Amino acid sequence: MQKTLAIIKPDAVQRRLIGKIISKFEEKGLEIIGLKMTVISEGLARKNYSIHEGKDYFEKLVKFMASGPVVILVLRGENAIEVTRRLMGSTSGHEAAPGTIRGDYALSGRFNLIHGSDSVESAKREISLFFDDTSIMEYEKSDLKWIYDMSGENLV
Ligand code: ATP
Ligand code: MG
Repeated sequence: MQKTLAIIKPDAVQRRLIGKIISKFEEKGLEIIGLKMTVISEGLARKNYSIHEGKDYFEKLVKFMASGPVVILVLRGENAIEVTRRLMGSTSGHEAAPGTIRGDYALSGRFNLIHGSDSVESAKREISLFFDDTSIMEYEKSDLKWIYDMSGENLV
């Protein structure tokens, strides 16, 4: 099963949305296998968003991500990267579809509550920026057989 990294950004923490955002992922059936609250240094924010280096909004993005506590999650599930991004909604809060995290709770294009890895390579890279192997809990959830049909060789 796929793993992805999600960051509940400083605006979401300040706006008391941690619980609502985590609930979206849990209720969908994704497993939380890593979780921590921390303040990201500007250096780490730069690394996480390195593909945006040179963009006019890069410095503001880095400052925003380092401006207060965040909650960082590792999520696991079938197609977890795309599923997480779809639950987040499109980048701009005022364009994101209702029902998504950004669509329901954000209006801004920068203060958009949540980050999610956008590919297998970036998920791997970003997870290793924030978690070492010992702080990822690779446990088996007992309800998985009700989240997926596991009766055959493949999950359905
Ligand atoms: P994220 O990477 O945070 O999950 P995303 O993949 O939807 O968001 P990206 O294009 O990767 O969007 O942009 C990264 C972040 O940079 C955005 O979430 C937003 O906070 C900020 N950002 C992107 N484009 C702009 C812009 N034009 N003006 C201001 N901020 C921007
Ligand atoms: Mg992105």
